[in-house]
Order: sequence, then structure tokens, then C-alpha cells
Amino acid sequence: SKINLSAFIDEVCDEMSAVKKPNQRIVYTHTGEAIDFKTDGQLLKNILINLISNAIKYSGNDKNIWVTSSNEENDITISVKDEGIGIPETDQQYLFSRFFRAENAINIQGTGLGLYIVKKYLDLVDGQIEFESIPDQGTTFKITIPKQTYYHHEKDSSDRR
Ligand code: ATP
Ligand code: MG
Repeated sequence: SKINLSAFIDEVCDEMSAVKKPNQRIVYTHTGEAIDFKTDGQLLKNILINLISNAIKYSGNDKNIWVTSSNEENDITISVKDEGIGIPETDQQYLFSRFFRAENAINIQGTGLGLYIVKKYLDLVDGQIEFESIPDQGTTFKITIPKQTYYHHEKDSSDRR
């Protein structure tokens, strides 16, 4: 179905504000331009919840979380940036593996499934994810989703590739 991207992200950020740490702020900035975009809203919401809850969990009580979105020619992009613990460089290559947890996160509760699922969801809509992270400074995840997308269910995605 069709969603208005900025209204959609606004709503998710509001929901996540209810579960953030005390003095964290979730700040969403966008151009204001209406981007009506046809996608699976449930899937996109799940992706955003995973990324924002990681940003909350792996950042201190008083850190900000910056969310942006943009409208490109063929894709939409959404980024989630935090000022948290970051990901050690040697761990970065394993981030989307099932059950993987970085060495600096062992004292923080988690199962290592969130990003694995995010990656699977993005595969279903031919989306992509990239990240940049500096230990003790923060992490930015950016997703890109084509505006024209053939939504393929997992069972036929293997036939196509
Ligand atoms: P859950 O299954 O509850 O999401 P999780 O948060 O441990 O558990 P993922 O979301 O898959 O699992 O993240 C995998 C690992 O990547 C985390 O354990 C953590 O080490 C690291 N990580 C993910 N997001 C961030 C972030 N924003 N900042 C720092 N480290 C992160
Ligand atoms: Mg997680």
C-alpha cells in the first residue's frame, strides 16, 4: 500500500520515543516534501524499529539519535545515526550474521537477531543497507529501498537469483 514517508517515519519515531532512555532525543529531519511511496508498511516499520532500538540500546542516557530520509530518483533512503558505543572494526564484517554480537556489547542485553532480520527484509524488497561506525563515537545505518519494487516472497526469491 501507499505511505507518506515522512508521516510514517514521524509516527515510528514517536512510538520509539516512548521506549528511549531518559534524556535521549530522537530527532527526525526531512525536507517536508511529500513522498508517496508504495511499500510494505509493516516490513518498513519493523526495519526502523530494529535500527532505532539498537541506536537507543547502544547509546548512553543523554545521547541523541538522528533520523533522516531522502527522496532520490529511483530510491528512498533512511538513515539512523547515534552517538553510542560504536562497533569495533574487527566485528563490523559479521554484523548481519545470525546471533552475532560485538565484543563491546556483551554486557548489554541482546540476541543478535535484529540486523539479520533487517537484512532479510531488505532482500525481499531489493533494498540495501550500509553503515559507518567509530568505536566510542557512534554509528550510522543507512537503508536504500527502490521506489519501484517487485515484492518477492522468500520462496520465489531463490528462483530468481
Ligand atoms: P536483538 O536481536 O535484540 O536486536 P542485538 O541488538 O544484539 O539483539 P542486532 O540488532 O542484530 O542484535 O545487532 C547485532 C550486534 O551489532 C549487536 O549485538 C551490537 O554488538 C551491534 N550493534 C548493532 N547496532 C548497533 C549500534 N547502533 N551501535 C553499536 N553497536 C550496534
Ligand atoms: Mg538489535
